Amino acid sequence: MSKTKFIFVLGGVSSSLGKGIISSSIAKLLKARGFSVTILKLDPYINIDPGTLNPYEHGECYVTEDGAETDLDLGHYERFSNVPTSQANNVTTGIIYQTVINKERKGEFLGETVQVIPHITDEIKYRIKMLANKGNYDFLVTEIGGTVGDIESLPYIEAVRQMRWELGRNCIVVHLTLVPYLAAAGELKTKPTQHSVKTLLESGVQPDIIVCRTEKHLSENLKNKIALFCNVTSSSVIECIDAESIYEVPVLMHKEHLDDEILSKAKVRCDAEPELTNWIKFLDKLKHPKYEVNIGLVGKYVELKDAYKSINESFVHAGADNECKVRIRTIHSESITDATVAEKLEGLDGVLVAPGFGHRGIEGKITAIRYVREHKIPFLGICLGMQCAVIEFGRNILGLNEANSTEFDTETPYPVIDMMEMQKKISGMGGTMRLGAYPCKLKKGSKVYDIYKTENISERHRHRFEFNNEYLTQYQKAGMTPVGINEKDNLVEIMELKGHPWFIGVQFHPEYKSTVASPHPLFRAFVRAALEYSGKLKKK
Ligand code: GLN
Repeated sequence: MSKTKFIFVLGGVSSSLGKGIISSSIAKLLKARGFSVTILKLDPYINIDPGTLNPYEHGECYVTEDGAETDLDLGHYERFSNVPTSQANNVTTGIIYQTVINKERKGEFLGETVQVIPHITDEIKYRIKMLANKGNYDFLVTEIGGTVGDIESLPYIEAVRQMRWELGRNCIVVHLTLVPYLAAAGELKTKPTQHSVKTLLESGVQPDIIVCRTEKHLSENLKNKIALFCNVTSSSVIECIDAESIYEVPVLMHKEHLDDEILSKAKVRCDAEPELTNWIKFLDKLKHPKYEVNIGLVGKYVELKDAYKSINESFVHAGADNECKVRIRTIHSESITDATVAEKLEGLDGVLVAPGFGHRGIEGKITAIRYVREHKIPFLGICLGMQCAVIEFGRNILGLNEANSTEFDTETPYPVIDMMEMQKKISGMGGTMRLGAYPCKLKKGSKVYDIYKTENISERHRHRFEFNNEYLTQYQKAGMTPVGINEKDNLVEIMELKGHPWFIGVQFHPEYKSTVASPHPLFRAFVRAALEYSGKLKKK
């Protein structure tokens, strides 16, 4: 029997209350007290994973070391805890049903009628327990996607009810709700929280702790009222006031004794205070920057807050590391043309061209890259951003008119970016890209070698296309140099431009590996380069 304590985080009243941040904060605080912790995200949608989801549907798709395409909440967890996650940390209804249906087809249920209870709920419980046993963790924080009352979350809530019954105090339920402030009444309102808890009770689940997201402080009276209506002690009603930065939440939650409350409910003794020294130093730098830079983020999903989540967060980490506030100006790639580019990129100290799929917005990205190359503005191209830099260089320096990626033009006379050999035979879309961590060897003497300060690195990938090696000598001779190579498959992973102060394109996604404790070296160096470009810092 596992010694793991299970903490479930369920959301009520409204979506977008920050269950992922609360779950990550709980995990962070427990880890900072010396416990081993991991996190599990249960997503109630029927897709197998978010890999096939459009960012408009579900924000960024986060990629783990082992190549799982997962919910972006796993990114928060890694950024908070500095511990990598894996495929086992994100389970969807699609995976659960697929597993159960496959078992049924194999005849494993021996003639039973296969039903939501017990077969689906058993599979959910199995996934939860399997992860806990795998790492022999002290705590497993499981976040259930969606909002209490959603039809699709019901089997998950039922699984929580059953686990509570089986495991008693080894199972803690944290319910995150909203306590809205009604300006006209001048009051905070508890009724939605009461209703949400009632809905949970209908499913047989009594929350142990209620975390109340609020714009204004909760009075003792109000906490007592919530406690009375929701069958919890008032010390279990935790205020979660809006914070300027998500990284303040663990500290705020500790001040509100959320971690103490969890430990006391789980009957775990721990006299140590959480070790948050470095975290607080980071917050201090974040709040009191000495400098400021403006960085352009060119992409086609810029109107969506969550589409480039990991990139935005990487800038937060790298900015704090440089004691610098990074102001991000998002620029829609479709709005960039020869006529608008100067105005769109005016005043920027650096430009990042984002990853992406499909031809929409490509020409704008290429135009932006030409501008930053010619004006010697620091440039970081990620995945598709790197591929666009290769296309731009081919067209405008090598004279390969109409050079393109075969992703956008299968008939191009110069396929400088082409589908990877290993991808050509694949027909399914889900989970079939080159995914996850692969090694890369850096060329000594290159800028990236100087940045990483090591020859062998490993970075996470998510792509189908690659630099076409037939053009390698031509590019190299003209100054676009491959400085990072995957030797096993002979793939160009990094391109650098000679004669430019800072122009780097990477085929991988550095943003997936940046955390508060280890800001990514490329982002740190890019922010530094932007600071130098802006004239606020002298060159090292
Ligand atoms: N669409 C490109 C490819 O599949 C780039 C992918 C990306 O930017 N993640 O290679």
